[in-house]
Amino acid sequence: MTPATTGRVAECFFSIQGEGVTAGAPAVFVRLQGCSVGCQWCDTKYSWDPAGGREVSLEALVEEASAYPCRRVVITGGEPLESLLFLPLVEALKARGFTIEVETSGTLPPPRAPVDQWNVSVKLQGSGGAEARRINPAAIRAFLGLGAWWKFVVVDQRDVAEVLRLAERFAIPRDRILLMPEGVRREEILERSEWVIEECRRHGFRYSPRLHILFWGARRGV
Ligand code: SF4
Repeated sequence: MTPATTGRVAECFFSIQGEGVTAGAPAVFVRLQGCSVGCQWCDTKYSWDPAGGREVSLEALVEEASAYPCRRVVITGGEPLESLLFLPLVEALKARGFTIEVETSGTLPPPRAPVDQWNVSVKLQGSGGAEARRINPAAIRAFLGLGAWWKFVVVDQRDVAEVLRLAERFAIPRDRILLMPEGVRREEILERSEWVIEECRRHGFRYSPRLHILFWGARRGV
C-alpha cells in the first residue's frame, strides 16, 4: 500500500504531557482524527469522525510540529492507529529527531514503527463498549512485547478489580500499570485521586495525574 501523504488532524499544539509516566514533560501534541471505540466518557469526542478536523499534508504537519521549540511529540487521537497517516508521520517525525510517545486504546496491533514509548489505555467495562470491541488479546500481547505502559482510567473500585483481572490474564507487570482517575473537572480528579492513590499503594500500581484538567479544565489545545 502506498503510504499516506495527507490525512486529517483534530489539533496540533505545544503543552506539557498531562498524563502517564512522562507527566510534566514539555511535548508537542498531534491529535489525529478518527476513533471508532466509542467510550461514553471520552473527553475528545470531536476527534471521533474520521472526516472531521482539518486536512493536512504530511509535510505541512511535520513542519507545524517542528516549529515548536521541543523535540518530544505525543501522537494521540482519536485512535491514532486507525489513521493511515500514523506510520508515515511517526517515521517523518523520527527523522526530524523527535522522541515519540503514542497514546492508544490498544484495540489495534502496533505496526512496526520507531515509537519510543507506547502508552496503552485499554478500556474497561465502564467505558460502555462490548468486550470484543475493547479487548484485543493479540494486540495486548504485541504491546507487552514492546514494553508498553498501561494506563487505566478508573471511576470506582469495580474498575480497579477489573484492572487486577486483566493484569493477571495478560501477565501485565504491575509496575507498568498506571491508574488514572476519570474526570473532566478539577474537583472530580482531586476527589477520586484520594482513593486511587490508596489503590496504587495497595497493589503496586503507579498513579497518573491529569495535569491538563487540574490546571486548565476541559479546554482544547492545552
Ligand atoms: S479510545 Fe480514546 S478517543 Fe476513542 S472514544 Fe475512547 S477515550 Fe475517546
